[in-house]
Amino acid sequence: MSVRGVAKHYETRGASGKAQVQAVRNVEFDVFPGDNFGIVGESGCGKSSLMRLLTGLERPDAGTIFFEDENIGQASPKRLRALRRRFQLVLQDPYGSLPPQSPIGAIIEEPLKIHGLGNRAERRDRARAAMSEVGLNVASYDSLPTGLSAGQRQRLNVARAMVLEPRLLIMDETLSALDQTEQGKMLNLFERLQAQHGFTYIFISHDLTMVRQVCSRIAVMYLGETVEVAPNERLFFDPGHPYTRALLSAAPTLEKRRYLPEECLLEGEPPSPIDLPPGCAFAGRCPHAFDRCLSETPRLQTRNAQALAACHLIDGGVAQ
Ligand code: SF4
Ligand code: MG
Repeated sequence: MSVRGVAKHYETRGASGKAQVQAVRNVEFDVFPGDNFGIVGESGCGKSSLMRLLTGLERPDAGTIFFEDENIGQASPKRLRALRRRFQLVLQDPYGSLPPQSPIGAIIEEPLKIHGLGNRAERRDRARAAMSEVGLNVASYDSLPTGLSAGQRQRLNVARAMVLEPRLLIMDETLSALDQTEQGKMLNLFERLQAQHGFTYIFISHDLTMVRQVCSRIAVMYLGETVEVAPNERLFFDPGHPYTRALLSAAPTLEKRRYLPEECLLEGEPPSPIDLPPGCAFAGRCPHAFDRCLSETPRLQTRNAQALAACHLIDGGVAQ
C-alpha cells in the first residue's frame, strides 16, 4: 500500500457557525508486502479517520491510496467491493462487532457469501478451517457468540477477516480491549498466521509498547499528520521528530535500556483541529520551535536510511 498526500476534513459547528475539522492531512507512507506496519499516536490524532480512508469506507479530499495498483480513494463502489476481498479490517470492540443472534460458523461464512465464494459445503469447510487456525473450538460452530470471552471474540473477528484469504489485514486497536496475557497470545497467533499465509499487517494503535513488539516499521501521527516514519529500532532509539521524542519519553518500557537518555516532557495541549494555524502543528508545544516553524508546514523528508520526519530541524533548521 502506498499513501501520498492524503487529507480529509469534516464540517462541524464551531462557536461562530460552520467550521472545518482537519482530521487527516499530509499523510504519507509505504507498506511493503509481508510488512508489520504500525500507525501510532495518541487518541484523537486521526488514526481511525485514516483507517476509514485506507479501507475505502470514506474518500479522501486529496491524495492517493494505492493498493495493488488501484487507487482506493477513487475506486468505484463495485471495484471497492472486489478489492475488499484482498484487504480486511479487524476492529477494536470485541462486543459490538458481532451479531449476537448469528451462530459462530455463520458469522465466519458471511464474507464468503457476500463475495459469492464456494457452495454451502465449501463455505462450511473454509469457516471451520479458519476457526481451527485461530484456536476456536470447531465444535462451537453452531453456538452463539454470546458465551465467548473478549479474546475468543477477537479470534472470531480475525477468522471472519481471514476466511477470504486477504493479502492485507488492518488491525484498528484490535488488542486494546484484551488483557496482557491475551494480547501476547494474539500476537503469537498473528505471527503464525503471517508465516503461514504471508499476510501484510497494518496495526493501528495508541500503544507504543505493542507496536515496539510487533511492527517492523512505524508511522507516528500527530494532529492528523504523519510526522515520522521509520524502522522500529530507529524510531525508538533515534527518533527524528520532537513529538516522537516526547511520546517515547513518557512511554513505559519493559526494556533494559531507556528509549531516550533524557526526559522530554510535553507541555500544553495540542491545538484544536478546527481552522489550524499555518506552520508546524507541533510548534506551540515544541521546545525547538523557531521562526520558520510558525509560517511553513514541514513535510516528511528523508533523515537517513528509510527514516523520514516532518521537521525543519532536519535540513539544519535554517530559513529557506
Ligand atoms: Fe518543532 Fe519546528 Fe520541528 Fe515543528 S518544525 S517539530 S516546531 S522544530
Ligand atoms: Mg481510534
